[in-house]
Amino acid sequence: MSKGIKIVKCGKERSRNNYYYNKDKINAQRRKLYKKPENKQKKKIYQQREDVKLHRKIIQQKYSKLPYVKELQVVYRKKYHDKDRSKSRDYQKRYREINNESIRIKGIDYNLKNPEITRRIGRNRRIRKLNAQGNHSIDDWLGLKILLGNYCLGCWKNNIELHQDHIIPLSKGGSDWIDNIQPLCFKCNSSKHAKYDVPKLMVLQ
Ligand SMILES: [Zn+2]
Repeated sequence: MSKGIKIVKCGKERSRNNYYYNKDKINAQRRKLYKKPENKQKKKIYQQREDVKLHRKIIQQKYSKLPYVKELQVVYRKKYHDKDRSKSRDYQKRYREINNESIRIKGIDYNLKNPEITRRIGRNRRIRKLNAQGNHSIDDWLGLKILLGNYCLGCWKNNIELHQDHIIPLSKGGSDWIDNIQPLCFKCNSSKHAKYDVPKLMVLQ
């Protein structure tokens, strides 16, 4: 038999299994006790003790690395933020103000590593601003480039960095669907501006 536990209140010794068999009942009793104001105060003082804080921190660091705990944390965090969004918004604002410089450097680093995503974000902003229709994914764009043999449709140069150009410009009511996109090199793209040339893509077809 497992070692017993002495119950403080009545001095009786109970088996350790007793807890597992009467878990719900015992936990309900504990909850009731914690709700008393004098016990709440005691708990607060206990939690603010330095050694208790340190012990808690060690346990948190140990368990936060487990994969299922990480998943749970994501769920709990979402629940918490959904409860009161203004609170988390304020926190984010303060965090951004304090860590302004490091966030900026991280952002530049990320943009250099992911140029396609960065351009995508910039374009999405422009589309929202102009109230334009449609949208295409990065895979759509990569597929189009491969289909056209990685050529610039302005000067027919191959193997250069290609930019996404809207055949009918967004400002003239063009959409962001993939059939309104053509690959152009930087030089051709910047000399086109917001003109609506006869699309070279139509010549190909
Ligand atoms: Zn070109």
